[in-house]
Amino acid sequence: MKKKIITTLVILGLAIAIPTGVMYNKELKAWNDGYCITCDNELEYFDVKHLKPNRFKYTWYCNNCHHIEQFHFLFQ
Ligand SMILES: [Zn+2]
Repeated sequence: MKKKIITTLVILGLAIAIPTGVMYNKELKAWNDGYCITCDNELEYFDVKHLKPNRFKYTWYCNNCHHIEQFHFLFQ
């Protein structure tokens, strides 16, 4: 019985951790060290939106080509 609960918790943990990890890697690539992927200009921090507890959306803006990039993680 106890083993079953632990297995369930591990599966639940993985179900949360894997999509978050995939999203993080995808956004890390788009973040491109803070430089615009279109014109290589340095991105400027623009806005943050509070979606739900522990979930934010950070908006970065390129004032050269007006490209907007949004992330769920705060990259610096
Ligand atoms: Zn740009």
